[in-house]
Amino acid sequence: MSDTNASLAVRDLQVLWHPCTQMKDHESFAVVPIRSGRGVWLEDFEGRRYLDGISSWWVNLFGHANPYINAALAEQLETLEHVLLAGFTHEPAVRLAERLLRLAPDGLSRCFYADNGSSAVEVALKMSFHFWRNQGMSGKTRFVTLQNGYHGETLGALAVGDVALYRETYQPLLMSAFTAPSPDCYFREPGETCAAYSERRFRDLDALLARHADEVCAVIVEPLVQCAGGMRMYDPVYLTLLRDACDRYGVHLIADEIAVGFGRTGSMFACEQADITPDFLCLSKGLTGGYLPLAAVLTRDSVYAAFYDRYVTMKAFLHSHSYTGNPLGCRAALATLDLFERSDVLGRNRELAAHLAHRCERFAGHPHVAEVRQTGMILAIELIRDKARRQPFPWQERRGLTVHREALQRGVLLRPLGDVVYFMPPYVITPEEIDRMVEVAADAIERALAD
Ligand code: PMP
Repeated sequence: MSDTNASLAVRDLQVLWHPCTQMKDHESFAVVPIRSGRGVWLEDFEGRRYLDGISSWWVNLFGHANPYINAALAEQLETLEHVLLAGFTHEPAVRLAERLLRLAPDGLSRCFYADNGSSAVEVALKMSFHFWRNQGMSGKTRFVTLQNGYHGETLGALAVGDVALYRETYQPLLMSAFTAPSPDCYFREPGETCAAYSERRFRDLDALLARHADEVCAVIVEPLVQCAGGMRMYDPVYLTLLRDACDRYGVHLIADEIAVGFGRTGSMFACEQADITPDFLCLSKGLTGGYLPLAAVLTRDSVYAAFYDRYVTMKAFLHSHSYTGNPLGCRAALATLDLFERSDVLGRNRELAAHLAHRCERFAGHPHVAEVRQTGMILAIELIRDKARRQPFPWQERRGLTVHREALQRGVLLRPLGDVVYFMPPYVITPEEIDRMVEVAADAIERALAD
């Protein structure tokens, strides 16, 4: 017998434990079974369609079941599905590394693969620490992170993150990091520019490095947008100043572009907007166009050289994951890069982003909207109880969850972060689909604010 929405949901709840979910919530709200996807649309078993307004957790760039990526993967499947990358290599891994390094900011010349975003962060943290150790600087054992930053859920990544919801419970298990104030422009003073605020906040980080550089391996940041922390945004000047400070104090800069890379902020990589090259660039999510788990950490020759020695010196980076550089993932990534080359994706995104901005002007004056902010193809609407006093709704009211549920009923997938409703659609969305998405969001927001 073929599945229906209801039958699959029942079977699911008997065996699955879903990510980022209080499973008891599903007593009152069913999981949504998806049978197929095409472009920005997901379809359930009864033919109901949902516009994927968040690119399925920010991974999808060119639509679900993209014919070009599908064809590339089908060909790869017939050729080589997987081989270990230690001692062996394959063409997709080599070609992808060559292309990523050509695209990335100048100065990055080595590509280390992993298989998801958190693993990429673990690689960067370990490589940075190990680099200093190989240089005889074993005193460098700590990392600097920004308030409200997010870098994944494995223990190392969690330790350099600062979103309490994910982190607090596990605190006793986490290495201790230095946390600097966020350049997040939500907190700028009235009349203060975002650039001035970000610059002001940078002074705290500078002071922290002045005191602790001897102990610090690296500063890790999400360039321009702190995504999981509520799509909080800051000015590129912060990154420019940070790059300079990392050089002055002799610490690495890790740019976690797992969420913001591949055109999301308006440039191919967010770091380009500050004209900087990090020491480690972490990539995942959109890397494969949203098809397969793959990650890459790009770094410099000078880092690579510090590990390059006779085996007995025990300087090698022995980190590994079974699926490191999986050929299918690499091939999906190559097809994704082809799609960037075949048309002016960033140019079209600029038009779509302007259209989205225009459609969302309506929210700015809303009595329960604290801020509408946008960086490229990310637009966020921050709901608030008391606008004048900047008082949030009690979190227990879960207003964002109501937005999610109401929007789903109207055929749009949104997944607010707390009370921050945001749009982060695939790049193949049309202006008409943007109109529909925003219209539904407006209705859902009104419902969520109703009581
Ligand atoms: N870094 C950032 C900036 C992210 O947004 C995420 C995922 N939301 C991660 C790291 C972790 O990636 P993954 O979920 O693939 O482990």
